[in-house]
Amino acid sequence: MKRPSILVLGAGYGGLTTVVNLQKEFGTDAADITLINKNEYHYESTWLHEAAAGTLLPEQVRYDIKDVIDTGKVNFVQATVEGIDVDSKKVSTDNGEFTYDYLVIGLGFEGETFGIEGLDTYALSIANVKAARYIREHIEFQFATWSTEEVKNDSRLTIVVGGAGFTGIEFLGELANRVPELCKEFDVPREKVRVICVEAAPMVLPGFDPELVDYAVGHLQAKGIEFSIGTPVVEATPEGVKIKKNDDEFEFIHAGTVVWAAGVRGNRLIEETSIESMRARVKVEKDMRAPGYSDVFIVGDCALMINEETNRPYPPTAQIAMQQGERIAKNIKALAGEGTTEEFVPDLKGTVCSLGDEDAIGVVFGKKVTGKRASFMKKMIDNRALYMIGGAGLVLKKGKFNVL
Ligand code: FAD
Ligand code: NAD
Repeated sequence: MKRPSILVLGAGYGGLTTVVNLQKEFGTDAADITLINKNEYHYESTWLHEAAAGTLLPEQVRYDIKDVIDTGKVNFVQATVEGIDVDSKKVSTDNGEFTYDYLVIGLGFEGETFGIEGLDTYALSIANVKAARYIREHIEFQFATWSTEEVKNDSRLTIVVGGAGFTGIEFLGELANRVPELCKEFDVPREKVRVICVEAAPMVLPGFDPELVDYAVGHLQAKGIEFSIGTPVVEATPEGVKIKKNDDEFEFIHAGTVVWAAGVRGNRLIEETSIESMRARVKVEKDMRAPGYSDVFIVGDCALMINEETNRPYPPTAQIAMQQGERIAKNIKALAGEGTTEEFVPDLKGTVCSLGDEDAIGVVFGKKVTGKRASFMKKMIDNRALYMIGGAGLVLKKGKFNVL
């Protein structure tokens, strides 16, 4: 067997799981495995809403990649990918050019603004750990400024969250707990602060179980979160957002902070390759390869897969990204040994949406869960993801144990 050269781009859930499993599949010196990532650390994208609200420190959300890979088997390169040429099999980065026999693209998601005016410039997106830290500091700055300015601008204390999908709702859950802390810290009366969620669809968490949605909305409203439902954001300006109330009625919400959580797309670099994509997501073959490129695999949020039962795409989730990573490692091993690849079949265990640190809603193995029990499950899911990549040591270092 020729010693294959395998290049993995991105150390998110998908890329890192691929690498950890490649390590298991190939013995020492059996393959040249290179992992390229922008930072020397991995961050838990599924915890970014906590870092953005300020309920978790950014350092708690990330860990060093070298702590979880076998550096005897994997060459880790900290670099930013700048271009992917799948025809000449070359990847250019700010730290040199790389070639490969097999390529795995796992460069993750970006916030989708659907071309809505002003959002790219004036709204903040929970897109990565640096962006999350920026949101936290921006909100703190608004509170600090309000408490020291002579002529009070109350709209500084209004936070608009665009989108009531899982990201929006989880972020609101954290904010609901964080706002009272901020009020105390910066001497701000709680009644001055408004947190408003604006959702385009006629319901919160469109498509999710209505009983669980009612539970979530009731919980958040009881903590002072306001909802504006069926009212899409149509523009953002430095002063706030314009929302559409009906065909000829608009309202402007003045806000010091606008966080855009209304959907994701794949990494823009995908659109610059000759691989066909939709919103930077590649409709992959059943074995996770890019159509027309037998040596290129796509993992995680850059991949698009249709659920044949519903005829709709599977949602881009960490749960699926990690399962894909395992399958891709096996498929590369098979190809390197001149075997054949196998189809990736997702094994969906359910969805749990946190509502702050002590509450949650979810459907797990077909059963509905709410409250502390759901919150406990969410933390166990978070800990399991750590375990799958870094074993018990990583769980002890970064895990969530405040479960009662
Ligand atoms: P990512 O995790 O985004 O990783 C991409 C990696 O690529 C990063 O390390 C990044 O630094 C790197 N990278 C990007 N560009 C470059 C470049 N040019 N050069 C080098 N490196 C680069 N899913 C769930 O299943 N359960 C949840 O509870 C859940 N909660 C979520 C909460 C929030 C707030 C958000 C935003 C998402 C949540 N998701 C959840 C979705 C989940 O986070 C994504 O589906 C998952 O992160 C996708 O994994 P990935 O490996 O494709 O990309
Ligand atoms: P999403 O696409 O799931 O939700 C976006 C929401 O924004 C939708 O409700 C949509 O109607 C709304 N929206 C779109 N345009 C709008 C506009 N102009 N004005 C107001 N609202 C608008 O996106 P997400 O919540 O960012 O989630 C991204 C992915 O990550 C999904 O696959 C999700 O399942 C996953 N995720 C999972 C969890 C979890 O399992 N706990 C948590 C967070 C995210």
